[in-house]
Amino acid sequence: MEKVAIVTGAARGIGLATTDLFLEMGWTVAMVDRDADELKAVAPERKGAVAFICDVSDPEAVARFAEAIMARFGRVDALVNNAGVAEFGPIEQCDFPTWRRVMATNLDGVFLVSQAMTPALKNTQGAIVNIGSISGLRASTLRVAYGTTKAAVIHLTKQQAAELGEYGIRANCVCPGPVRTKLSIAVHSPQIIAAYHDAIPLNRYGSEREIAEAICFLCSEKASYITGQILAADGGFEATGVGLPALRS
Ligand code: NDP
Repeated sequence: MEKVAIVTGAARGIGLATTDLFLEMGWTVAMVDRDADELKAVAPERKGAVAFICDVSDPEAVARFAEAIMARFGRVDALVNNAGVAEFGPIEQCDFPTWRRVMATNLDGVFLVSQAMTPALKNTQGAIVNIGSISGLRASTLRVAYGTTKAAVIHLTKQQAAELGEYGIRANCVCPGPVRTKLSIAVHSPQIIAAYHDAIPLNRYGSEREIAEAICFLCSEKASYITGQILAADGGFEATGVGLPALRS
């Protein structure tokens, strides 16, 4: 039986690279995104991929999606909660609508899609991989909303692992370091790019594919005894403190 993965935020960036890796592994992929134009441009080019337009922060849309995917495939083996938004700014300028926009996709979306797909994942003893961020592991400036949602996603992953292990469902979290995508290009100023290079032992951004490899590993049988874990795919960012620029000079 061919395995089925759901990837949210699949129209571009890390979600698209994850879709492509699942397809290479022989899985069928439900590509979920709110950007209908982009999704319709990329999904038909991919054999084994099916597009579902859905805003993961909208409970009714998620319920409709859950019905549609079961009607189409009848099974789900892995759920990758990857859809995310980033809005950076100082704490005092983060107004409530901004705070809610970031929470709605990054945290509510992970909760809603996971809950909607839990009955299906129980049937297959499937896997959930949530996409956090190094911004959820270490606090930084300008990320009051974004970093807080990602820290919450890390804990939500552990809650899922604790409760859903009973049904054989595994839940893990991948925390990417910086990757050049639409999301990061919009918020990574030249100063932020330089700061990342200074703070990353591998001294570079990651690629979408490098993040996808970690995600697909955790979804695969190779990770069958791994649950409740937080894997930073970050070039060493989380492991280090001060001193790298001095070492390099
Ligand atoms: P991209 O912006 O390239 O892709 C994200 C996709 O998700 C977009 O197509 C976006 O649509 C879609 N999306 C956003 N909100 C929703 C929603 N509510 N419902 C459905 N689809 C939605 O982002 P990345 O590939 O960079 O990011 C993927 C994940 O990785 C995110 O969770 C992000 O926080 C995380 N991450 C990324 C890092 C990076 O440096 N790139 C670093 C650490 C973590 P639209 O364009 O309309 O917003």
